[in-house]
Amino acid sequence: MLLLKDLDFKGKRVFLRVDFNVPLDEKGEIRDDTRIRAVIPTLNYLLDQKAKIIIASHLGRPKGKFNPKLSLKPVARRLAELISQKVILAPAVIGDEVDNLKKELRENQVLLLENLRFHTEETNNDSCFAQHLANEVDYYVNDAFGVCHRAHASVVAITEYVKKSAAGFLVKKEIEYLSRAIHSPEIPYAAILGGVKVSDKIPVIENLLNKADDILIGGAMAYTFFAAQGFEVGCSLVEEDKKDLALNLLSHAREKKVNLYLPSDHIAAPAVAPEAEAETIDAFPIPSDLMALDIGPNTVRKYSKIITSAKTIFWNGPMGVFEIDKFSHGTMDIAEAVANSDALSIVGGGDSVAAVYKAGVSEKISHISTGGGASLEFIANETLPGIEVLMEK
Ligand code: ADP
Ligand code: MG
Repeated sequence: MLLLKDLDFKGKRVFLRVDFNVPLDEKGEIRDDTRIRAVIPTLNYLLDQKAKIIIASHLGRPKGKFNPKLSLKPVARRLAELISQKVILAPAVIGDEVDNLKKELRENQVLLLENLRFHTEETNNDSCFAQHLANEVDYYVNDAFGVCHRAHASVVAITEYVKKSAAGFLVKKEIEYLSRAIHSPEIPYAAILGGVKVSDKIPVIENLLNKADDILIGGAMAYTFFAAQGFEVGCSLVEEDKKDLALNLLSHAREKKVNLYLPSDHIAAPAVAPEAEAETIDAFPIPSDLMALDIGPNTVRKYSKIITSAKTIFWNGPMGVFEIDKFSHGTMDIAEAVANSDALSIVGGGDSVAAVYKAGVSEKISHISTGGGASLEFIANETLPGIEVLMEK
C-alpha cells in the first residue's frame, strides 16, 4: 500500500477523500467535529509538502439530489477555523466551474468540493463521474476509512484516472491495527462478539474461527445459538432462519478446536424498557414472558478471566442493551476487563465504540476503529475494495 511518504506532493493537485459525515443539529450546525479533526494530520502533512489540495466527502443521505441542508458549507467554515486558513467551497462536485477552481489552485490552497452524494453516480461507482472527479488531479489520497468497504466512485473508480493513489494517516493506522487482529496475532487471542444479529456477523465469526483461541458470545445473538440447540429462551430475540447457521458455526468451532463460549447466566426482563423489572436467570428455561437483555454476573466473571489472560482482543457488539443502565452492566464490566488487560485490544462497530466511551475506558483501548462496517468487513475478508486499489500495481 502506498503511503503519504512515498509520494512527492510539491505543487501536485491532490484529491483527498475524507469522511466529513458529521452530525448536524436542526439549525444545520455541526454537533461534533471529531471527524474533521481526525483528518488534520494528513491535511497538515499535505500543506507542509506544498500540495494543491482538493477535498471531497459525503454528508448524510441526499440520495443523489442537490439538497442545501446537506451542503458542506458548515464543514468548510469549521475546517477553515481548524487549519487557520481559507477553505474555498466549490459550488458543485463536478463541472466546468469546479474544474476551473481546481486549475487555479496554488500551492497550499484548499478547495472543498460539494457533497459527493448529490450524485447517484458516486454510490454506483460510475467511471464517467470518477473521471470528472479526477479532472486536473495528479494524486489521490484516501483518508476515509469508514467508506473503504464501499465500492464508490470517489473510493474505487477514481483511482483508475489518477497517476498514483496512497493512504492517509488515518487509513494507515486502521489497517496497521486491524491487520494485527488477523495476521499472526499474539496468542491467546480472545474475540468478543455481541450485538443483535448473528446474520450481520457470520463472515466475521467464520474468519475469527481461523484466528482466535476463544470466542466469547454475548448480546442478543447468543439466543439464536441457544434456540438452535433446543433451549427455551423465552421471548429473547432469535433469528429463526439462522438457527442452522448457528449450529454450523458451533460445529466449525469444535472442528477447529476454538473455544466458543455462550453466556451461563442472563439478565432478563419482560420488555426493553428502563422501568422493566430485571431478573437474573442462571438456568434454562428462560420464562416464556421474559427476554434476555444482558449477560449475567457469572458470565462476566468467566469472560473477564479469559480476557485478562489474552494477548490479543478483538471486540465487536455489546453484551446487552447497554443504552439502558439496568442492562448495561455486562457490557460495562467487559469494557473494564478489556481496558485493564495488557493485550493489544481493538474495538470496532458503531455501538461497541459508543459502549467503550460510555464505560469511560476509551483511553485504555489500543485501537478504537472509526469505521463500523469497514472494520468488520476487514476482519471478515482481510481486505476492502478501497484498500485493494491503494496497493501498488
Ligand atoms: P455494533 O454497532 O457495535 O456492530 P450491533 O449494532 O451489532 O453492534 O449491536 C448493538 C445493539 O445490540 C445495541 O443497540 C444493543 O442494545 C443491542 N443488544 C445487545 N444485546 C441485546 C439483547 N440481549 N437483546 C436485544 N438487543 C440487544
Ligand atoms: Mg450497530
